[in-house]
Amino acid sequence: MLSQVEAWSNINTSSTHVEGLHKQMKLLKQAFKVLNGKMEEISMAPLEQVQSNGKIKHVPLGKILSITKHPKAPIQVFLGGHMDTVFSPSSPFQACKQIDGNTLQGPGVADMKGGLAIMLKALEALEKSPWGGKIGWQILINPDEEIGSVNSASFIREAAQHKQLGLLFEPAYPNGTLVSSRKGSANYTIIAQGKAAHVGRDFAAGHNAIVKLARLICEINDLNDPDSGITVNVGVIKGGEAVNIVPDLASCRINIRAVNLEDFFLIKETLFNILATLNEHSDVTLTLYQQGERSPKIFDEQHRHLFVNLRKTSLILGAGIDWKPSGGVCDGNILFEAGVPSIDTLGAIGGNIHTQEEYILIDSLVQRAQLTALFLMQLESMSGANE
Ligand SMILES: [Zn+2]
Repeated sequence: MLSQVEAWSNINTSSTHVEGLHKQMKLLKQAFKVLNGKMEEISMAPLEQVQSNGKIKHVPLGKILSITKHPKAPIQVFLGGHMDTVFSPSSPFQACKQIDGNTLQGPGVADMKGGLAIMLKALEALEKSPWGGKIGWQILINPDEEIGSVNSASFIREAAQHKQLGLLFEPAYPNGTLVSSRKGSANYTIIAQGKAAHVGRDFAAGHNAIVKLARLICEINDLNDPDSGITVNVGVIKGGEAVNIVPDLASCRINIRAVNLEDFFLIKETLFNILATLNEHSDVTLTLYQQGERSPKIFDEQHRHLFVNLRKTSLILGAGIDWKPSGGVCDGNILFEAGVPSIDTLGAIGGNIHTQEEYILIDSLVQRAQLTALFLMQLESMSGANE
């Protein structure tokens, strides 16, 4: 498993580095062939990205790998992962390095090439066991998770249909704790379009896009309510060219997050209302573009039941598991929207993800593969007990 993770992590698979993603796809197909499932490469339309000048740029994406087996079995499981990472081809962080007996550092080792190796090993064990064939499964490995799974979300929703359970292989917390609930998150780009004018000759003829955008930013920043878990972050702002020109164009990118569905919808609606009010009788137009959205993942009774069962399995293997909420989002949010309960952090135990110190604990590869395999093997008896 270790050499697999090293080989995969040494390939740059930034979400928009299509060449690297193709290379990764080839290696994944070779490795996953051992499962003897039905393999399919799924192409996606290019991603539509709004630029800071308001123009749409079409960004080519990699392909999704889908593998299906035993589609007629009574229990059907969705297994998800992503092959992309956040590290661009120009990042200095491009290769793995074992820094001590049990620590491997490298781009994507935790998030989530280690998780892909765990998924594969667990399914190999399931298929060789007496339960092989009794549990049907579909793997979906997407290439755009780190940019919000905007284009792959519909394929995940479709694959999740008629599945009783979702397992995703995002990394666990550094101490092995899994993620229970997740906030909802939405990204927006807002473009302010005014009118340019020479400051000295024609100041009154200009309509300042930056000033208007600043007003909006102050209003939406007031929506922050950390005690309720509501955050509104203005993360990027651009605009203007020179001090002697009234700027006709400005843009910002914002992210909103909330713990529960009511707050999530309310905060979105409030944002739209603020924008509409500011656009009334105004010479500067604000236009909002949504750039991906994932609803909150709620830790409901169904999920509690699932995690309690996983804990029972983990105790058989000698090390109990724990769980806690996260403000981060992943494709587990999409599964929740699709009505499929999921455990989304069955990947490697590691830390410092999305930084150049990203690492995994090497022994967690085998541990989590055993946990996942045993959990899959027990599904039949668990689902029987539920009825
Ligand atoms: Zn991830």
